[in-house]
Amino acid sequence: MGMTRREFIRSAVVAGGSLVAFPACSRAQPPGAGKPSREPAYARLEAEGKLEGRVAEVHAMLRQCQLCPRNCGVNRLAGETGFCRAPAEAVVSSHQPHFGEELPLVGRGGSGTIFFANCNLRCVFCQNWPIAHQGRGQKATDPEVADMMIRLQERGCHNINVVTPTHVMPNILAATRLALHKGLRLPLVYNTGGYEHADIIRRLEGVVGIYMPDLKFMDDEESARYLHARDYPAHAQAAIREMYRQVGPLQVDDRGLAVRGLMIRHLVMPNRTSNAKAFVQWVAETLCADVYVNIMAQYRVDYRAFDYPDIARAITAGEFVEAMEWAEAAGLRNLDARSVSQRNVQRRRM
Ligand code: SF4
Repeated sequence: MGMTRREFIRSAVVAGGSLVAFPACSRAQPPGAGKPSREPAYARLEAEGKLEGRVAEVHAMLRQCQLCPRNCGVNRLAGETGFCRAPAEAVVSSHQPHFGEELPLVGRGGSGTIFFANCNLRCVFCQNWPIAHQGRGQKATDPEVADMMIRLQERGCHNINVVTPTHVMPNILAATRLALHKGLRLPLVYNTGGYEHADIIRRLEGVVGIYMPDLKFMDDEESARYLHARDYPAHAQAAIREMYRQVGPLQVDDRGLAVRGLMIRHLVMPNRTSNAKAFVQWVAETLCADVYVNIMAQYRVDYRAFDYPDIARAITAGEFVEAMEWAEAAGLRNLDARSVSQRNVQRRRM
């Protein structure tokens, strides 16, 4: 599956039209630039008297839920459930310091992850299907989620990393405000599968410090087949543009820890189904060559992926290496350090 450098360059020229020297950023001063602040974004919003109103506004959306592009319109406050099967109250699978996340989130104390059950995507290849599809976890009130945030801070975590947050965004905002009044000072990491409404993301401005969306697929057909969401690429791309507008490229403090910015994940799938080449070109052309990008190699066949021939195997070393080479050819300069190491290891094996 390997390809010489010359073959790779030729394929990039033919398939992409041309090899483009993408600019660093289109703006002299990228959004979110400036000296990183140790004060969490939501503390400023509260000081301005705006956070309480924001919490009430998003909580009311549960009455006719259109928190994500599924637009179910169900009244979750009355016990109805939509595509994600989530009740009005959050369901938490676990909360713990996590050391497997991207290095700028982990540091010495770990990323303070809160894993929410249920999901608005429900991918056929989901690797967390007992949690995401079957909703395994314990119901947690907003004060209980706030206490989890405080405990993670007390254990030395560097951020509060809310995993699969889309369908529980109102609960997260309410809990964050409660935790703020109990002393929470960590940045909030919004760790999402990417199937978001851009105008819902707009309501997180000033609350979320770090966005970490997936951009799973670039093509409608694959999105329809594997995510049951043909409009995933359009919505995810619009949402990520809005995230970038709010927080800009990743900023780290003097310890190398993330304090603000955008980090994007892309899982390489077998047989080029995720279209990694289009993904990296989109990031470079639409956002900025300095955006933190993690090209991930850990795809494994799980859940219903066995029934889909194109994704019913692991990726090859060649598939991962070519995705990393596309990223470099696109001019991306802030690739996840572990993915770069992994590429180097895989290259030696090829
Ligand atoms: S969050 Fe759940 S109920 Fe609300 S629109 Fe999305 S899938 Fe439907």
